[in-house]
Amino acid sequence: MEDKFIINGASDVNQLVPFKYKWAWDKYLATCANHWMPQEVNMSRDIALWKSPGGLTDDERRLVSRNLGFFVTADSLAANNIVLGTYRHITAPECRQFLLRQAFEEAIHTHAYQYITESLGLDESEIFNAYHEIKSIRDKDEFLIPFIDTLTDPMFKTGTPENDQKLLRSLIVFACLMEGLFFYVGFVQILALGRQNKMTGAAEQYQYILRDESMHCNFGIDLINQIKLENPHLWTPDFRDDIRLQFKKAVELEYAYAEDTMPRGVLGLNASMFKGYLRFIANRRAQQIGLDPLFPNEENPFPWMSEMIDLKKEKNFFETRVTEYQTGGALAWD
Ligand code: FE
Repeated sequence: MEDKFIINGASDVNQLVPFKYKWAWDKYLATCANHWMPQEVNMSRDIALWKSPGGLTDDERRLVSRNLGFFVTADSLAANNIVLGTYRHITAPECRQFLLRQAFEEAIHTHAYQYITESLGLDESEIFNAYHEIKSIRDKDEFLIPFIDTLTDPMFKTGTPENDQKLLRSLIVFACLMEGLFFYVGFVQILALGRQNKMTGAAEQYQYILRDESMHCNFGIDLINQIKLENPHLWTPDFRDDIRLQFKKAVELEYAYAEDTMPRGVLGLNASMFKGYLRFIANRRAQQIGLDPLFPNEENPFPWMSEMIDLKKEKNFFETRVTEYQTGGALAWD
């Protein structure tokens, strides 16, 4: 146990117990308790609305397809980052256990976006290529990719202050800015549709995804703070300046995405409301990793979003689910 650390630990990564990082194990258990699958959500009302000529306005349709255009590839970037990158560099088995569960959840999310795209009969090549073709989406991904590439480079190894800072920077970008910020314009948009009783099957899935992602983000923040605690020499003034710069860039990119997906007001939302919202979230993420707020005195223009995050599964479709998971009892051994 004495040589068990989040990074550069010398203990056996296959010895899960005795637990040192109980918070990571508890989060692993919590994510498992939130298990869901996309095909359990009925899409028939969404399909009827999407296919009826006056069912949605053109702006609402644009919002849905741009939204899927970002998300349908974002979670596979997230999965690559975990499986091919982060996992190798984390030496605490409790945290690795969480990352394995998280990787599966990223697969479920990609599955959900694919399921919605297919159910609505959208042009799959258009949706899956949006991250190359739509500037506001491509710019977000191009911001992220260098940070992912750092961790997935087979030659990259932790163990020097410089490389440990690179790892920490990538973890911060990923948890605080990708999962913690770049997902939020899109979540608000689809959940706002659901609140107006439109695209409720898609909105239900986004609600589960939001719950999963807020857990990923919180785990990432705990991981970052534990690394800081164990390696205080990494948290230099220059490093903090650079992190603040990344936060500012990310807020600008996400705001540009809000403008592109909502060229006019739609659903009682407009891009300028998101300026305040993104600043509010960025402040929160900064504080969660021990930085001062970047944009003081911002308020949350969407207080209803916190109820969505705190979704209690008992209140939802789990009571009425029709699909039972297969268990060992379903296997025949003859
Ligand atoms: Fe995630």
